[in-house]
Amino acid sequence: MDKIDITIIGAGVIGLACASELSYLGKDVLVVEKNDRFGAETSSRNSEVIHAGLHYPKESLKTRLCIEGKHLIYEYCSKNGITARKTGKYTVAYDDESCEKIEQILKHGRECGIEGLEIISGKEFNLTANETRFGLDIKGGDGVSGKIEVDFSGGNAQNKSYLMLRHAYVKVKNDLGCLLFGQTWDVISPLNLSTLNYAVGWGAGNIGYRRPQIRVSRDFAESLQLDLALARGIGDDLVVSGGSGLTSSDGYDDAVTAKSPQVQGRLGYTIDKLKIGFSGHYGRPRAYNSDISEYRNYNTRSYNVDVYLPVCRFLLKGEAFTGTNLKTYNGSILNDDSFDGVDSSGGWMDATYKLSKSVNFTVGYSEESVDEDTIKTLSRLNNSCLFGNIVYTAKSGVSMGLEVGRWATKYKDLDTAKSVRVQTSFKYSF
Ligand SMILES: Cc1cc2nc3c(=O)[nH]c(=O)nc-3n(C[C@H](O)[C@H](O)[C@H](O)COP(=O)(O)OP(=O)(O)OC[C@H]3O[C@@H](n4cnc5c(N)ncnc54)[C@H](O)[C@@H]3O)c2cc1C
Repeated sequence: MDKIDITIIGAGVIGLACASELSYLGKDVLVVEKNDRFGAETSSRNSEVIHAGLHYPKESLKTRLCIEGKHLIYEYCSKNGITARKTGKYTVAYDDESCEKIEQILKHGRECGIEGLEIISGKEFNLTANETRFGLDIKGGDGVSGKIEVDFSGGNAQNKSYLMLRHAYVKVKNDLGCLLFGQTWDVISPLNLSTLNYAVGWGAGNIGYRRPQIRVSRDFAESLQLDLALARGIGDDLVVSGGSGLTSSDGYDDAVTAKSPQVQGRLGYTIDKLKIGFSGHYGRPRAYNSDISEYRNYNTRSYNVDVYLPVCRFLLKGEAFTGTNLKTYNGSILNDDSFDGVDSSGGWMDATYKLSKSVNFTVGYSEESVDEDTIKTLSRLNNSCLFGNIVYTAKSGVSMGLEVGRWATKYKDLDTAKSVRVQTSFKYSF
């Protein structure tokens, strides 16, 4: 090339975008960059947020380009298979003055034509049918059985929610034991609180979730049971340790890039009516660490104990755990996993009293604490919930529940947030 039409100084996102557009127009473009690679300055150090265009004057070029640009970015990403998450964001008002300000921001945003803005106040009322679940228990011959179960928590608007897969597995049983292929509850920490809350204490002392797995179960004598599983990690981009506190955003579900499955095991022991279990898991997911520009493995592990004891009219249950990087097991108070590890411990217990054939009372407490040194400032440090409920079940299978829960969340370097939640449920089981 002995002649160029345009020289652009700087191979940041702006310089490169201009160069790309100009070359499409048939111009010969030269981009000059002082570093030995493109995007080495501001463009690779920002927060990776696609802004809504909320905070600039209505008529400004910045607002116009931001609103037009974000639609173009989403479209470009979708066409080219680039991950771009529409996470939304909260702008928080914490006193009378900022509450007034937030009303102005809402008004301004709507005038600018920004969609999806709403004010969420401290007091919320919600009605949902999304927790309705149904499924099929399939019984075949020769010890083969299966299960499929879904609910409606798969996202979308409240009145037209998508299905979400809960369980889908095949079980093969013979004299040696049982083999399970598919998705179901984790082997570790198998119990759940008897709460009306869909989240059953997750992120507040109750760990364990549903994931794809191959499981082997075997009873030794009458009282000893062993469960072992190779499970698929279900991951998310993790936080780059020591970095800007942003996700690595490499576009990969970290667990997909793991070279090996996660291993889970539980040894259960039954003594009369008492059932006690010791369980644990270990995994080595892999993620891109942009601090050192290479992939690195990191640990996720847990050690757990679970107890189940019916006594007279009472049913007592509880679990305790300690571990690291437990976000995808609904632990670590749902703080993102990190290369160095987010360490946490927690547990829960509840007691259900059977007043009559149709009425049950339950009280329970759950709590999880994260090691302060392993999380960033403003992250969740401790989460606890105290609850009590009453459930009435009619002969027809219809049950009605009423629950009151008190939640408290402590943050690192921030005030504790508290809330009281009153919940009712109407359920038909058949
Ligand atoms: C902390 C932070 C967070 C941000 N977060 C977001 C966000 O979440 N969302 C968002 O949309 N925007 C964000 N931004 C803004 C966004 O990153 C910038 O607007 C954008 O990267 C600017 O791109 P640029 O190409 O103009 O500049 P740069 O990326 O800085 O590129 C300029 C290039 O010019 C080169 N250069 C300079 N002088 C010379 C020279 N004399 N000779 C040769 N080369 C030269 C530099 O080396 C550099 O590579 C953020 C910015 C910062 C600082």
